Amino acid sequence: MKITILGNNSALPAHNRYPTCQIVEINGQCIMLDCGEAAQVLMKKHGLSWNKLKYIFISHMHGDHYFGLPGLLNSMSLLGRTESLYLYAPKDLESIVKLILDSADTVLSYALHFIPLPKGAELLVDTTAFSITCFPVEHRIACHGALIIEKSKGRKLLPERCRDYEIPSAYYKQLKAGADYERKDGFVVKNELVTEEGKGERKYAYCADTIYTDSFLPYILGVNILYHESTYLNAEQEKAALRYHSTAEQAATIALKAGVEKLLLGHYSSKYKTIAEFEEEARAVFATSFATKEGDCFEL
Ligand SMILES: [Zn+2]
Ligand SMILES: [Zn+2]
Repeated sequence: MKITILGNNSALPAHNRYPTCQIVEINGQCIMLDCGEAAQVLMKKHGLSWNKLKYIFISHMHGDHYFGLPGLLNSMSLLGRTESLYLYAPKDLESIVKLILDSADTVLSYALHFIPLPKGAELLVDTTAFSITCFPVEHRIACHGALIIEKSKGRKLLPERCRDYEIPSAYYKQLKAGADYERKDGFVVKNELVTEEGKGERKYAYCADTIYTDSFLPYILGVNILYHESTYLNAEQEKAALRYHSTAEQAATIALKAGVEKLLLGHYSSKYKTIAEFEEEARAVFATSFATKEGDCFEL
C-alpha cells in the first residue's frame, strides 16, 4: 500500500497548498480519498494514472473535499475511460453530480456507480487484496473517516526449497495458506520448511475533518499509519473546537491513544504560511508525526 498526499490545505488554495486529496494505491488499483479542487491537476503533476483510479471516497459535503470531482469525472470521460468508477459519498452528492452532467447534456463514457455513505460504520469494499470501511467522525456536518486494510498475502513461498522437495506448483496456493504437503512416497513436507512468514495485514486510517474526540478510537486502534486532520496549532484550540476541527497536539494525542506507528498531519488552515510548527507541536506528544506536504509518499 502506498499513500500519496496531493492536497493538504483546508478550505481554500493558499501558499501553494491545495484542498484535501490523497491517493492510496494497492495491488495496481487506486483509491482517492477526498477530491478537493486541483485533484486532477495534482494527479497528473505527480504521475498518478487516472486509469488505475477505481474508487473515490468523499468524506463530507464541505466544498474543499469535493469541488475537484466534476472536473475529474468529465476529464476521464473526454479521454474515453471505459472502466467503471465507484463513488462513495454523502447522498446529496449524487443529485449535484447528476445536475452538472445533465445540464451540459453530458453522458459519461464509463459507468459511474454512486454508493451513498451510511449513517454509521460500514464495510464498503471487500476484495481479495483489501477492504475499505467507513466510520463516523465528528464534524459540523456528517463526516466519515475511512479505514483501508491491505490483507495479508499469506506465507511467503521459498520456490527453490519447493523444487528441492518436489512439490508441484499447483499446490503452492495451499502452501501459502499454511498447509503441509504429503508426497506420494508418504513423506510429509512441513510448511515451515518451504515457506517463511509473509507480510501481515497493513492498515491506513484516514480521519478527515473532525473535532478532537475519542469516539472513533475503536476503528483506528493499532493502525500502521493514521492521517488525522490538524487545521490549527494548539494556540487556537478554542477556535478549533468551535469549528469542529483539531490541533496538531490533539491529533498527536489521538495517535498516542490509538497506538499507531505513524501519524500524518494535514488540512492546515490558510492562516499558516508555513507548516513546520505543526510537526514540532505534534512530535512533542507523538514522535513519529509528519506534517505532510504535496507529493509526499508513505509506503506500508
Ligand atoms: Zn475541510
Ligand atoms: Zn469540513
